[in-house]
Amino acid sequence: MAESFDGVDRRGLMFVLSSPSGAGKTTLSRLLIERMGGLKMSVSATTRSMRPGEVDGRDYFFVDKAKFEEMAKQGELLEWATVFDNRYGTPRRPVEEALAAGQDVLFDIDWQGTQQLREKARADVVSVFILPPSAVDLEKRLHSRAQDSDEIIRGRMSRASHEMSHWAEYDYIVINYDVDEAFAEVQSILKAERLKRERRVGLTGFVRKLQQQLEQ
Ligand code: 5GP
Repeated sequence: MAESFDGVDRRGLMFVLSSPSGAGKTTLSRLLIERMGGLKMSVSATTRSMRPGEVDGRDYFFVDKAKFEEMAKQGELLEWATVFDNRYGTPRRPVEEALAAGQDVLFDIDWQGTQQLREKARADVVSVFILPPSAVDLEKRLHSRAQDSDEIIRGRMSRASHEMSHWAEYDYIVINYDVDEAFAEVQSILKAERLKRERRVGLTGFVRKLQQQLEQ
């Protein structure tokens, strides 16, 4: 159970950010983890190869296909999907442990994974889709990352339109014109969702105590 800043217990939430690659989701996730307390990043397992600068166990758990299949078979993944011919999945245990310890969990996963989380825990999932302001902007960002070859970038551009077709399944849509602005919007969503009445299971007790004090 999470205790909010105001001392009322609430259920932890699963905060999902999705977007086509290059729309700024990784930067927004990093800023959220750095600047919001009580939020833990879910580190996915993937079969894709490591990019320069990535760290195993921090950005992803890099595993081979056999290990991934084994994890899926053993029920160790909360959800999984194939994206760009690679497998990606969310290890179940760290998420359950974080929620049990009163932390919210942040997911950078695609629409397929988001659908699976929603099916499992609709009331606890808050989903945000990040859109780029334009195709030109998206391409610029993919090139400026300089991590992928031109061929991979072309592939990602053509996948972007397909990924974006799922925008309407999300609770919130943020257009990333400016990273500070988009961060402020995503932060506001998380702050507001943390205050949702249904999640604040400690409210009944809090109000009862307040009433007792008033009636004394
Ligand atoms: P990238 O290879 O650029 O790191 O990620 C490619 C896509 O896979 C991104 O859209 C990202 O959100 C998605 N992804 C990363 N981890 C997971 C995961 O655990 N599950 C699912 N369903 N998608 C993931």
